[in-house]
Amino acid sequence: MSFVKDFRCTLCHQSFAPDNHLLTCPSCGEKGILEIEYDYEAMKKVVNRDYFRNNPDFSMWRYAPLMTIPTDHLSEMLRVGWTPLYRSFRLRKQLGIKELYLKDEGLNPSGSTKDRASGVAVLKAIEIGNKTISCSSTGNAASSLACQAAQMGLDAVIFVPKRAPIGKLTQLSIYGSTLICVDGDYKDTYNLSRDAIAQHGWYNRNAAINPHLVEGKKTVALEIAEQLNFAPTDWVSISVGDGCSIAGVYKGFYDLLQLGLISKIPRLLGVQSEGCCPFVTAYQTKQPLAEADENTIADSISVGIPRNPLKAQNAIAQSKGVWIAVSDEEILKSMAKLGRMEGIFGEPAGVTALAGIEKAIAQGIIKPNETVTMIMTGNGLKDPVNAQKAISPPVILKPDIEILNRYLKEKGVK
Ligand SMILES: *Cc1c(COP(=O)(O)O)cnc(C)c1O
Ligand SMILES: [Zn+2]
Repeated sequence: MSFVKDFRCTLCHQSFAPDNHLLTCPSCGEKGILEIEYDYEAMKKVVNRDYFRNNPDFSMWRYAPLMTIPTDHLSEMLRVGWTPLYRSFRLRKQLGIKELYLKDEGLNPSGSTKDRASGVAVLKAIEIGNKTISCSSTGNAASSLACQAAQMGLDAVIFVPKRAPIGKLTQLSIYGSTLICVDGDYKDTYNLSRDAIAQHGWYNRNAAINPHLVEGKKTVALEIAEQLNFAPTDWVSISVGDGCSIAGVYKGFYDLLQLGLISKIPRLLGVQSEGCCPFVTAYQTKQPLAEADENTIADSISVGIPRNPLKAQNAIAQSKGVWIAVSDEEILKSMAKLGRMEGIFGEPAGVTALAGIEKAIAQGIIKPNETVTMIMTGNGLKDPVNAQKAISPPVILKPDIEILNRYLKEKGVK
């Protein structure tokens, strides 16, 4: 059952009949990113509180009627989504806010929120009969696509910049895709993939270009709302690179508002790293988005030319949200803090949302009486090399109980 009404161009606002082969606006080309619009009146008759209450599928596919996917292969897929939303006790207290929830997206099959988009991409490729699927990625979309393509028997051709962390490269090679490691930055990687996809006719999993993928990413917001019994927090914080994830978060809450299931959309905190923050710069200077350097340890959000700018900026504007930038040092501090206080190990871009929350509290943007959800977008095991910068190296001791006891005393361990 599909409730899709039309595809609308975010640039020229023309609308098009739903068509599985249409990815961007035929008039505007690559920048004409499409928004998928639904018939919410019809959807309401199916998607209501009872629908959720009686749904035994605890994965992102429980939201199939709110997406554009065919449903015939769902039971064969890996379990993506329905990641835990933890209520924080210790960190919340330290931050001095009313509530803090942590959405641990690191527990998806390939360890990041990208699995939500890759799952949809794989289903769409199968639907139109395309056996090869391709994307360019800073690392996580790559390993995620390789993972799910492998499991569903598709070939994947993956483009990554050579700077991608070894953990992510290893992961995607294990899944057995064709890896193209590009001697250039993410922009060069993206452009090469775009040209190759056009020439070879592979299915395009580049999230900005492919409007179905934001529909997958929005399930993280649908889950947050449902896990909070349709009373989401005042704020939701997420790190931003291309802008597809935050666009998806907004879309999920927007859908629920249209369906009458929530009464307001949380304010979104879009967090970038100071080393690469084109959205923050545009917001603060009130200038159009300009290309930025890619110079941060948060590789997943090191995106100099964001490919989904309009949807991302719209997400912040419509939700009365705020853009904020944090330093790499603050990101590393948040990584250690989240591990130490909550038992969650995030990669740099994964914990950036927490650094943003701390800064927003310090600047009075988030108030003590407000509630906040942090989306932890990627697992720390993907990038142990950078994680080492957040900790002190292990001390090696001789196997001697006296030496051990002296060491414990020094450390104050009782
Ligand atoms: C991709 C990614 C993001 C940002 O998503 P965009 O759609 O590029 O804005 C944040 N964190 C992690 C771990 C990611 O992999
Ligand atoms: Zn257009």
